[in-house]
This record gives sequence, C-alpha cells and structure tokens, in this order.
Amino acid sequence: MNAKAPLAESSLRESGVREELVQACKVLYAVKAAGDGLGGHLSFRLDEKRILIKPRPVSWRRLDPEELIVIDFNGKRVDAAASERSAVREWPIHAQIYAARPDVQCVLHAHPNASTIMAALGIAVEPLDQDCAAFAGRLPVLDNGAVSIATPELGDEVARALGTRGALLLKNHGCVVAGADIAYVCVTAYRLEKVAETMLRAATLTKLPVMSPERIAAILQAREAAEPSGQGKMNHERWQMMRDYYL
Ligand SMILES: [Zn+2]
Repeated sequence: MNAKAPLAESSLRESGVREELVQACKVLYAVKAAGDGLGGHLSFRLDEKRILIKPRPVSWRRLDPEELIVIDFNGKRVDAAASERSAVREWPIHAQIYAARPDVQCVLHAHPNASTIMAALGIAVEPLDQDCAAFAGRLPVLDNGAVSIATPELGDEVARALGTRGALLLKNHGCVVAGADIAYVCVTAYRLEKVAETMLRAATLTKLPVMSPERIAAILQAREAAEPSGQGKMNHERWQMMRDYYL
C-alpha cells in the first residue's frame, strides 16, 4: 500500500473543505447572516488538533480559499507565521465548542443585526411561521455582559450555554451556530436571521407575545410529532439552492 496515499487523501479533502467554506462565507454575507461583515468567523474542524477558519480581516465576500488559515485548539496559527491578516480574536468560541461537542464539524460566530437586536430586546421566538416554529423554545440566550469571547473560560461558557443545540444568541453581541456540516450551519444561520427579522417586524405591528401559551404549546407539540427525519438531506438541498441563488 502506498504510504503517501492517506496524506494525499487528506489534502484533497482539505482543499474541498476550503472551497465549500469560501462559498459559505459568500452566501452568509449575502443573506445578512454574517452581519455587516466586519467581524465574526466561520470555521471547520479538520481533525482533533487543527481548525480551518476565516480570519476577521479577510472579506466575507471576496476571500480566496488560501486566505483561510489553520489554527490549533489554543488559537495559535499552525500553517504559517501569524500576521495582521490572520487575527481571530474570538477563536475560543470555536475551539471550546469543538472540544465539548464531538458531533460538531462547523461553527459560525457573527454579529447579524436582527438576531442581535432581538436578543437585546429580550424578544422570545413565537411560532409565527414554520421557520419560527423550528426555533421557538430551542434558542438559548447567553447574557455574559457583551464581552468578546477571547479566553478558553469564556469559550467554555458559550459551549455550556449552547448545550446540544444548533444555535445560541449572545445578548448585546451576536450569534453562534454549530452543526455537523457546512450545509447545516449555513441553512440554520440564514433561517435564524430571517426568524429574527420576522419577530422584529411583528413587534412593530403588535404587542408581543401575540400567541397564547396554550397555542404555542399546541404548535410545538405538533412540531415534535411532525418533524421530518430527513433533516440532513433537506439541509443539503437547501444549501445547494442557497448557492444557486447567491453565488
Ligand atoms: Zn463577536
């Protein structure tokens, strides 16, 4: 057996991940899930020691695959010398979630406008439509005084608040989305920001909560019973459609 084969295979895999992560950055920016694009990062776990990540100073819209950098679980760049272009201040969000969640391969942290305002105003998601129903009662909010998550201890706090969920709001700060693949993270981040826009719009039209606790409980109970089992397949379909619309 060729000893070089596994190495060639892993570098082939990494180049595929780099391509898809670049597509994800562009789509997330286009759908406003990356906020104004001036902060935040998207990452992918390459293995148990290395994280591929978009550094903060690199544009979400015009980045190239080689502008993504590789860091270890201590936030140290390991693929080249660190530079101003490789700054990733809130790396502990990514490292500590990967450490706590073996099922997670992809993590987004961003400062999207509607999600951040929704959490700041203390608005809880009501199942006003199907996207809202997917998040209602499942969207934890961490109020940590709006500090940057720049230490492993703060990262651990984020990982604990996320628990086994796929999304978390950081009050007065932004959001975290984590999942098994890039498709899940992109679809979830897009839906989360859309849900927040829906709730903010509802808040301008009426007094919230608009639904009674009984009505919300009935819808959420129906959701549990009806939730399709093929969520992963649906996320891949949606991710393909998002690339078609926004790239
Ligand atoms: Zn942040």
